[in-house]
Amino acid sequence: MENKKELRTWLDEMQLTHPLVIAGPCSAESEEQVLKIAHQLKNTDATVLRAGIWKPRTRPGNFEGVGEIGLKWLQKAKAETGMMIATEVANPAHVELALKHDVDVLWLGARTTVSPFIVQEIADALKGTDKIVLVKNPVNPDLPLWLGAVERLYTSNIKKLGVIHRGFSSFEKSKYRNNPEWQIPIDLQNRFPDLPLICDPSHIAGTRSLIFDICQTALDFNFDGFMVETHFDPDNAWSDAKQQITPETLVQMMIDLKVRKRQASSEDYLSELNKLRANIDILDDKLLGLLSKRMEVADGIGLLKKENNVSILQTNRWNEILGKMILRGEEKGLSEEFVLKIYKAIHQESISHQKKVIIK
Ligand code: PEP
Ligand code: MN
Repeated sequence: MENKKELRTWLDEMQLTHPLVIAGPCSAESEEQVLKIAHQLKNTDATVLRAGIWKPRTRPGNFEGVGEIGLKWLQKAKAETGMMIATEVANPAHVELALKHDVDVLWLGARTTVSPFIVQEIADALKGTDKIVLVKNPVNPDLPLWLGAVERLYTSNIKKLGVIHRGFSSFEKSKYRNNPEWQIPIDLQNRFPDLPLICDPSHIAGTRSLIFDICQTALDFNFDGFMVETHFDPDNAWSDAKQQITPETLVQMMIDLKVRKRQASSEDYLSELNKLRANIDILDDKLLGLLSKRMEVADGIGLLKKENNVSILQTNRWNEILGKMILRGEEKGLSEEFVLKIYKAIHQESISHQKKVIIK
């Protein structure tokens, strides 16, 4: 698949004056619930109403979705409000039912994108559809796997495509339910600048207090829109209760978010930007120089350890450095998470340098 302007035709044709918003409950629960939320979202920035009909739960025994009947409720909501409707499809039977009920936007969930077999089955079932198909990132931080799913759909002659960034599962504890790992959607955007990129702050956050900041970051990175879980009574939602927000909160959020222009061209702006970029280039150069000096010192340590027959990894020393640097980082306004990541990488490189010296 190559980047082509046509990839974003479906989005451009919507002629929105704001980011695309897909909103609605995690799960369709009842006809009344779907219709009530749809009416609350009508006349807001939300163009598309979402609701999960079949819910992929991590453990069995949780609410697994209302099934086909929910599609009828979505259709009714579409007829009453004029909104487009969206749901997740996880196998060819879901695809068939969603198409039969004229669902406008079908998305592949994170647990589906991980499996090329299922993605292929879905791509075959969707062959040539003119519906919009969105692909959530896989659960694990794997860009080729994500792109592979998009390519399977593209090869099935599906031209209205887009991707949804919903964060990545991680063994390490973090404040997010799914770590954003922003570098991954940004890499994807660099390779396919015209493929619509939508952020799902709800599944990244896992808790509603983080949603605004995630949306602002996504806008700063030029994302095209959001998919936000929205419910009139979030705390009593049948799934993902902690991360849903009310339609009122969504409306306020869309007012408060700062949408930046993709490219500004005023001369002052450009000259200021160039100055700052030049500054960054100088600092980056210095950073690399310092890192390379640090490795030279590590080589010296490796030699000394070799002469004295001492093992490379000295855990106490490493923990000491780490503790100290996290504190120093904090004083300088750098987050613990960032310092930890950088130092782990530096330590790794230092060890490989020492190993090279020792086996020489
Ligand atoms: C959802 O959108 O409700 C959902 C299950 O999302 P994900 O596939 O991102 O976990
Ligand atoms: Mn959900």
